[in-house]
Amino acid sequence: MPTTHCPYCALQCAMHLEPGPAGALTVYGADFPTNRGGLCRKGWTATDTLNLPDRLTRPLVRHRGNLVPTDWDDALETIAGRLRRLRHAHGPDSVAVFGSGGLTNEKTYMLGKFARLALATSQIDYNGRFCMSSAAAATNRAFGLDRGLPFPLTDLAGARVVLLAGTNPAETMPPMMGHLSSPALIVVDPRRTATAQAAVDNGGLHLAPRPGTDLPLAQGLLHAARTAEWLDDDYIAQRTTGFEAAWAQAASWWPEHTERITGVPAHHIRTAADLLGRAAYHGSAYVLTGRGAEQHSTGTDTASAWIDLALALGLPGRPGSGYGCITGQGNGQGGREHGQKADQLPGYRHITDPAARAHIARVWGVAPCTLPGPGRPAAELFDALGTTHGPRALLVMGSNPAVSAPDTTRVRERLSDLDFLVTTDFVPSETVQLSDVVLPVAQWAEESGTMTNLEGRVLRRTRAQAPPPGVRTDLQVISALAVRLGQPADRFPTDPDTVLRELGRASQGGKADYSGVSPEQVDSGRPVYWPVTASASDETEPSSTPRLFLDQFAHPDGRARFAAPVHLGPAEHTDEYYPLWATTGRLMGHYQSGAQTRRVDELNHAEPEAHVEVHPETAARAGLSQGGWARLLSRRGSVLARVRLMHTARHDTVFLPFHYAHGQAANNLTHAALDPVSGMPEFKVTAVRIEPASAPTTEGHL
Ligand code: SF4
Repeated sequence: MPTTHCPYCALQCAMHLEPGPAGALTVYGADFPTNRGGLCRKGWTATDTLNLPDRLTRPLVRHRGNLVPTDWDDALETIAGRLRRLRHAHGPDSVAVFGSGGLTNEKTYMLGKFARLALATSQIDYNGRFCMSSAAAATNRAFGLDRGLPFPLTDLAGARVVLLAGTNPAETMPPMMGHLSSPALIVVDPRRTATAQAAVDNGGLHLAPRPGTDLPLAQGLLHAARTAEWLDDDYIAQRTTGFEAAWAQAASWWPEHTERITGVPAHHIRTAADLLGRAAYHGSAYVLTGRGAEQHSTGTDTASAWIDLALALGLPGRPGSGYGCITGQGNGQGGREHGQKADQLPGYRHITDPAARAHIARVWGVAPCTLPGPGRPAAELFDALGTTHGPRALLVMGSNPAVSAPDTTRVRERLSDLDFLVTTDFVPSETVQLSDVVLPVAQWAEESGTMTNLEGRVLRRTRAQAPPPGVRTDLQVISALAVRLGQPADRFPTDPDTVLRELGRASQGGKADYSGVSPEQVDSGRPVYWPVTASASDETEPSSTPRLFLDQFAHPDGRARFAAPVHLGPAEHTDEYYPLWATTGRLMGHYQSGAQTRRVDELNHAEPEAHVEVHPETAARAGLSQGGWARLLSRRGSVLARVRLMHTARHDTVFLPFHYAHGQAANNLTHAALDPVSGMPEFKVTAVRIEPASAPTTEGHL
């Protein structure tokens, strides 16, 4: 039985796929350090996506308003012809590319190369901008390097205390909870999530701040920890810079003041600081953050505030302790390392760095001056589409921005205003339905490639069966388009192992160095954590780095940086028309925009429609009852959702999952207020009002 990995989240659980009597593949959990044989319901049903009744198997082109089947030559020539004409008339930046944190490392790398060489456009970004860009910016700022967990996940099991800020692994990656059964948990989340409930049930704490106030809560904890004398003064002196500035910010957040702003009782802040501080004193505490901390217009600063707390307690770069960020998408880590970000070249190199440009140009066999400069981050890119100053064509690979981008009504308008929209996908997603040309591509178990999981571990997804006839891989699509746009074929190989070797050369010397990652090493069964530098001779093993920062951080002076962020709060405010906060997140049974999981019968039956969690008193004031339908309205749009009364909900906050489309799309409400450093939108805080509504039509249209 071949071993492969789940198509969904960053835990990248291992599984065996075995053909049943009828030929369809069945999933068996495989022993692997992150999942130890366990899977969540998405993993157990993952092979259902291979046999969907509406699977795309033929290229489609829009003809008289409808998408109609065509052959590959026609589809590819249509795309190349349109892109050539647009570039000729409006310049290379008239064509944009949008990638995904779900793509393999090889596709990520080739997509960036395709944009910079075949299209010569600067306009490329990806949906990971919506996922973990704020923590990436914060960890780069603090440590000089961004790897989600700078230690193996298995290290968590030995901790005394783990603080989880804005992450809900009990629902989003359940096998991870197996690593969290021994430590006491402190969960920071406006909702009483399954993770928060597990913390309370096992003697830990749930701190439920008002949405948008995580930053002062982190600084309040720092204040309480210093007052209780839990800070590690030796570590601060020897391994960091900037503590005094951080303390200057935290000094004003004494617990009673923090309680007034966050709503978290002062005695809970002191208890949490003692719990965490005592564990830190014993060298056995972790601080982990997720999207709840990041998806704000101040997301980088909020993640930085949690890092400042971890640094003050002496956690990062210590055996048995640490700070980490839990990545969301399957290749959220590798997806941001190899060149599909607007500002980045492979190896986590910055595109404006002359030395980085020279190195990549050498590997690609072009002159450095031919490489375009930085483009726009995702939300700005979408805002510019189809406008007089923005791209007029977009190629989307492995993403569904018509559901997953903020303020989707506006995004759909922008997509509709394009001259030309091309999508590669295996299901007719909401973005596919807006496209002019659709290319049907292979999916996870039908092709090989590497992923980098939340620990920075490079692993192999193995091909278990051939794709359906008529379907090509994304690498084949990229290569065919590049050749039609005038590139030599050998510059765009289609074999994943050939691409991985080139990626290794391109990343050599960069922060995310994969130069020692070979197909043979990935298949050897030995753990491969980047950076993996190539050995000087063939006789020695390439190095692998399970734990980062043990001796020094990645800044030139070896020291970590405190950020000392200032609390600014959300970009918009509640008022008499929009008196509640809405926050969004994931369910156990669905993944991202739901384009895959809403098509899996078992998952769809379990969670077939959007719901909104509301406190019973809030619901009663709005005239809502359990199981009825509610309309939520923000300053941008509205959503229909079925009411779930939750006694544990905050009175001022409602929660919506973001996996649904059309009139049930949570992102109809959200807005594209961006973090100025990371470009991440503020998904987590939206001012709304809620009112009774009648049931939606079949698609949830309003
Ligand atoms: Fe594991 Fe995540 Fe897949 Fe669930 S979705 S089986 S947690 S990798």
